[in-house]
This record gives sequence, C-alpha cells and structure tokens, in this order.
Amino acid sequence: MDILKGLPETTILWDPSDLEPYLRDESHLRGVLPLAVVKPRGPAALRELVRRAKLEGFGLVPRGAGTGKAGGCLPTERTVVVDLSVWPGEPRVSPQDLSLWAPASAPLREVKALAAAQGFFYPPDPNSWESCALGGTLATNAGGPNACKYGMTRHWVLSVDALLEDGDIHTFGISSVKANAGPAMGQLFIGSEGIFGLILGATLRLTPAPREYTTLLLPVKHWEDLLDLPGRLCAEGYLPSAFEFFDPAVLAELRAHGPEEARRLPGEALAILEFDERGCTSEVFLEGLLDLLGPVAEGLQVASDERQRQGIWAVRRMTSVFLKEHHPRKVSEDIVVPRSRLREFFAGVESRRIPAVTYGHLGDGNLHVNLLAAGETDPAQLEVQLLGLFKLALELGGTLSGEHGIGLAKRDAFLALGDPAHIQALRAIKRALDPQNIFNPGKVI
Ligand SMILES: Cc1cc2nc3c(=O)[nH]c(=O)nc-3n(C[C@H](O)[C@H](O)[C@H](O)COP(=O)(O)OP(=O)(O)OC[C@H]3O[C@@H](n4cnc5c(N)ncnc54)[C@H](O)[C@@H]3O)c2cc1C
Repeated sequence: MDILKGLPETTILWDPSDLEPYLRDESHLRGVLPLAVVKPRGPAALRELVRRAKLEGFGLVPRGAGTGKAGGCLPTERTVVVDLSVWPGEPRVSPQDLSLWAPASAPLREVKALAAAQGFFYPPDPNSWESCALGGTLATNAGGPNACKYGMTRHWVLSVDALLEDGDIHTFGISSVKANAGPAMGQLFIGSEGIFGLILGATLRLTPAPREYTTLLLPVKHWEDLLDLPGRLCAEGYLPSAFEFFDPAVLAELRAHGPEEARRLPGEALAILEFDERGCTSEVFLEGLLDLLGPVAEGLQVASDERQRQGIWAVRRMTSVFLKEHHPRKVSEDIVVPRSRLREFFAGVESRRIPAVTYGHLGDGNLHVNLLAAGETDPAQLEVQLLGLFKLALELGGTLSGEHGIGLAKRDAFLALGDPAHIQALRAIKRALDPQNIFNPGKVI
C-alpha cells in the first residue's frame, strides 16, 4: 500500500482476512473494507499519518475495543482504521491530586482496578467495562448504572491529550477540578466519537471509594409501579448509585433462557437498586427506604454479602449479550427521557404500537428499548417504528441517545430530528478543527 509505505512506529494490516474483524462493532451495522488498519506506537506515526491523510485525501477512523453500539468505529469509503490498542503509556495514580492518568489503550477494567487498589473510585461503568478501552469510553462519553448518581464519563475527566489535524498531540485541561481559563476545550473531545481528533490519553478525576453498599432486588407484581419510583426517591433525598430494571418481557426471556441465576429471578418485572453512601447499611436507612417504598416493597430482597451482590450484577451485565445471542438481528436503542416523564413514555410506546421490550437505567431515564423482531420487519416499517420512538423521546424533553452516541446508526435520525442550531454549531466546530474532514468522516454530522 503506497500511501502508507514507510510509516514509522506502526503495524499495518491490509490483508482482507486481517481487515474483516474491523468491519464490525456491537451495532447491527457493517463497515466497508478500509484501505488498511494501522496500529500506531508513537507520535511520529500519527504525525506522518495525518500528513498523508491530508495529502492523499483519506479519512482516519479511530477504534478502541470495538464494543460501540452505534457503528462509530466502522470504516467508511476511503478510510484507514486507526486501532489504538497498542498505543503506549503506563497508567498512574496521583493520590494528592485525586487523579489518574491513563493512555487511550488502557482497558477500562484496569483503570477502575488501579483506582480501587489505592482506595479510590472511578465511577464510569458501562456494562462493557470488562471489554472496552478507556479511549472508547471517552470518545462516546460512556455512562452506565452508576451515572444515576455519579454522572457520565465527561464529569470525571480533568484533561485530555488529543491529536489534532496539525499532526501534534495537545493537552487540554489540568489536574484540578478548577480550571476556568476559557471554555473547556478538552470537554469538546468527550463524546465527540472521533470526529474532532484522536484521544490518546486523559487525566481522570477520582473520588474516595465507597465503604458500604446496600443492594436490593425489587420484584413487583404490576410493573408500572416502578415507573414513579426513581423520581419519588430523588425527591425524598434517596439518591441510588444505581437503579436498573427489566420489563416483564425481558425478565421472562431471562427466566426462560438465561443462566441459572437468572432463572430464579422473581416478579412480573424487577428492579435492582443500589446505595453506596455512608450509613446506607444501617437499619435507620433501610427503614426510611421501606417507608418510602410502601406496599411496592413487599417482595424486596437485600443482598446479604458481596457474593450475592456480584451475582445480581452479573445477571444485569449479561442482559445485553444474552438478548443479542437470542435475537442476533435485534435493534437496541438507548433513548432518554427525564425520570419525571417515564410513565408518559411507556404510555406513548403502547399507544404508538412500537413492538419494544425494555430494560436499563430507569434511575436516570436512559432506557434500552429493543426491537427484537427488527431483522424480520420490513425496513420501511422499522424506520417508522424507530422514528416514532425518537420523536416520542424528544417530545418528552429527552434525546435519541443517552450513552451509545450517534455514530452511523443514528446519524440520519439525528440530522432529521436534531436541533438545527446544534447541528450547525457542531459542523462549524468540525470545519474549524478539521477543515479537510480527515477524522472519522461520515459519522455523527
Ligand atoms: C455488552 C455491552 C454493554 C454496553 N453497555 C454500555 C453502557 O452501559 N453504557 C455505555 O455508555 N455504553 C455501553 N456499551 C457501548 C460501548 O461499550 C461503550 O460505548 C464503550 O465506551 C466503547 O468503547 P470501545 O473502546 O469499544 O470503543 P469503540 O467501539 O472502538 O469506539 C466507539 C467510538 O469511539 C471512537 N473512538 C474510539 N477510541 C477513540 C479514541 N481514542 N479517540 C477518538 N475516538 C475514539 C470510535 O471511532 C467510535 O466512534 C455497551 C456495549 C456492549 C457490547
């Protein structure tokens, strides 16, 4: 491949059989064959890659671990995939600064474990945390069950090392939560899905690790009873660190075909609640919570030890993979509505006859709405169903994506339904930062 010949500090793949795995992520989409895949190992590689991309007119598609659900890391026409899995750097904690620096290639599980080993907590916890890379979580602004209390990845980033179109790596931000010298440039890269540049490392914010957890299984007889609970708990000062749920259809699938632990799950529908503040294991705390929950708490089960707690979370974490195994052509969305509008959302899904099953992050209104029969549905009808879903979320003051991002999968819907001023502003920033459109072309905007 002439255009990449002699690239320093790089492994290059161009054999079609080596490129094949790069045509997929965890969305339902498939990319086109890229010109090549490169694995850079140093700044000289990136500088030269950017120079040649601008000269030869090809795009650069960043890729972390490929667990994304929006097709963001899939190659489009005339692109080179930049696989950052061997990008160098040793993660390190600064206890005094309550911070941790790590390269984009660091597996998220190692970042979280390194923080934990020193008594700290890095809260972002996408359910793919055992397989995704830090860079991917930064580029998608990943969230997870803990976002309910701790917010998204962007709330835990102090500074970002980013490759810009000048071919150099620049650091935006400092190792302190206080930094107000102009708008926060580093934040522009968080959730940018690789369209403004490549993220090569970041300094993350840490907090002292929680010392106690109360983890509850809340089965209910009437699943709509769950829908007002997140708002009620918050209004009364009980902020769960996670509030997840399975609707009756998802719970029935798990019970019928899931692993052993899932077969014993109780209720018509089920919520998992977790609290992690100091005192949350006390009787006073639990009594207050039970009072607040009222009759809905009839079947409440409390995890009695860490093994039980991990068992509950294992079932939750495998739900996405399990549903995909059983419905390989399903489409999974991740819309959000404010938690005060959850009841209206489900009423809207029913009245619009959207054939959806749902689970996910009820505590912050981020719902994994799955169309299990998408593969067998007429494409035009599927589009109507998806647009109906997105419009409903928007009408209720929500949005199309709470955590997976726009990528390729939701680009058309985002451009059709998104706020025109927002899209125009994003395009203006893109033109300013990447005038030749080399970074992840054809994605998001
Ligand atoms: C079972 C399962 C559960 C999941 N649960 C959640 C969840 O709870 N919450 C959630 O938010 N997501 C979830 N996801 C989606 C996904 O895991 C996350 O979005 C994750 O953050 C992606 O990381 P990755 O390294 O795999 O990124 P990739 O899939 O490789 O890339 C994702 C996007 O980021 C860009 N990108 C990657 N690395 C960089 C970089 N260094 N610089 C610039 N751009 C880059 C890519 O171009 C692409 O647009 C889940 C996925 C699976 C398969």
